[in-house]
Amino acid sequence: MAEKAQKSDAEWRERLTPEQYEMTRKAGTEPAFTGPHWDEKGEGTYRCVCCGVELFSSDTKFDSGTGWPSFTEPVNLEQVELRPDNSLFTRRTKVVCKRCDAHLGHVFDDGPGPTGQRYCINGCALSFDR
Ligand code: FE
Repeated sequence: MAEKAQKSDAEWRERLTPEQYEMTRKAGTEPAFTGPHWDEKGEGTYRCVCCGVELFSSDTKFDSGTGWPSFTEPVNLEQVELRPDNSLFTRRTKVVCKRCDAHLGHVFDDGPGPTGQRYCINGCALSFDR
């Protein structure tokens, strides 16, 4: 496990755009179809926008119709942490970057493929490397 990427709130605010900061450091959710990458179909790697760790591959990306980048699984389960999220009056599981604690999105059990999982991730939380 790589060492933790820790920065102060002020440092994150300075490094990130307002949208990136709101989604990753304040657990926001971007409005559907407004963020980057939801319609991206190219081959490449999706990284944490905060710390750069590799999180998702285009190989597992699918068109969920939700307006958020959606994946069947992370590149490496060691890189993400799944936490119970009981906000919004419903029980969900949030997905967090283990290295820097960035809020990424949520995972649901209605995905296609062998895992049956749908990682629904804020586009603002990801950078894309072709
Ligand atoms: Fe990170």
